[in-house]
Parts: sequence; C-alpha cells; structure tokens
Amino acid sequence: MITIKSKSELDIMREGGRILATTMREVSSAIRPGRTTPRELDELALKTIRAHGAEPSFLGYRGFPAAACISVNEVVVHGIPDDRTLQEGDIIGLDFGVFYKGFHTDSAWTFPVGQISREAQRLLNITRESLFQGIAQAREGNRVGDISQKIQKYVEGAGYSIVTDLVGHGIGKKLHEEPSVPNFGRAGRGERLRNGMTICIEPMVNAGRPEVVTLPDDWTLVTKDGTLSAHFEHTVAITPDGPVLLTADEANPL
Ligand code: MG
Ligand code: MG
Repeated sequence: MITIKSKSELDIMREGGRILATTMREVSSAIRPGRTTPRELDELALKTIRAHGAEPSFLGYRGFPAAACISVNEVVVHGIPDDRTLQEGDIIGLDFGVFYKGFHTDSAWTFPVGQISREAQRLLNITRESLFQGIAQAREGNRVGDISQKIQKYVEGAGYSIVTDLVGHGIGKKLHEEPSVPNFGRAGRGERLRNGMTICIEPMVNAGRPEVVTLPDDWTLVTKDGTLSAHFEHTVAITPDGPVLLTADEANPL
C-alpha cells in the first residue's frame, strides 16, 4: 500500500532526515586512511543517531547486526561493519536509516578514502549525478518509470552498469513501503507519483558488469567481476513545490 503523508508527518520526517544528514556528515568526516575501521564508523553512527533522540532503522532489521551498512570497494550494498583498516584509495559506502517519532528516513553516500583514482572518482560522480537526475523526475503526475529511465539512461550512457537485484522504495512508518522504485525501466510506466508520497531513490552502480553475488554471511552483496560499485540515496518527498530532499542538510550539504 502506498501511504500519503500529511504536512505534519512530513515535518517529522524532515526532522528525522536532518538527524540522518548530520550523522552522515559526522561519520564521513571521521574517515582516516590507514586508521579508521568500518566498525568504528558504525559505533559513531549509532552514538550520533541516539544522541539526537532517534534510533537506527537497520539495527536488528531482519537480523542485521549493525546500525550502518558499510560497503567498501567491490561491495555493492549491505556490507557488515568489520575491523579491516580503510586504505588510501578505497571507496566506502555509508548507508543508514533513522527512526524518529514513528517515521523512518534512509540515505546513503559513497565517499573517497584519502586520494582515490580518477576512475573511482568518476564512478562516484556519475552515480551521484544519476541520483539527482532521478530526483528531478520525482514530481506529481510523473510515474515511477520516469525516475527509473532517467537513472538507467544516464548511468549506461556513461558506460557503467545498473544493479537490478535491488531497488528503491517507499518509506514512512515502515522502512520499506510501496512503491518499488527501480533504477531501470521505461518512462510513463509504473505508479503515478502523488503529493505526500515519500520515496527512497537509490542508484547502485557497478563500474564493470551488472551481476552481483551474495557472500556467505547472507548480507554482503559484491560485484561478481570484482569491480568497484557505488551507491547514493536520498529520501524524497513529492510536494506541490516539486521534489524535497528530506535527508539533505541545507545548511551543510555534503
Ligand atoms: Mg533504501
Ligand atoms: Mg539506505
């Protein structure tokens, strides 16, 4: 079922989204090549979310053991924070959800660890831009397929692959609600977007082939060919004024 949020519900989600944006900024600024581990970043995420009176959406979700999904290099999404030390040249995806006053928000961003290769930087740039291309289509009267097609066209036009095993989603009182928001598809198809809908748009982009494999921990998704993968996500509200990013921090954008 697609849920339509009232003005006051959207206000709550915006507050929760600001907590998420603040956490994203604090956790990402703690990344130090040769020193920081994903586990330390996860602990900082948990601490920061709770310090703002919110709870992490992912901890315990279907048994997930951490507050954040942390996905390094060839890990596409759903990486479990571990004790490896991040190395100069790595890329690291931080993905978390915040549960605040009864509503979830969800966001992800992929960061460079120190100096990264030109190729890795291009993957980050293209994936981030594909998210914003999709967001620009998140308008009343458009359909989900308008978002999907824009993202797919932009990513494939740049020579990269869209991961099709996972998709974006509606969000609200539940972390995952209707509709599905695929990063591939045809314009003019799918659910019609209405004011008050809140959706997570989250392109997952592989530098090489699109195939992915799940590791034996049953969570970690990696590229089958071992190439780098990037992931960017915002929670977006459909409003009469156009798409509103609930998980962006206007004062301190990333
Ligand atoms: Mg999501
Ligand atoms: Mg997410």
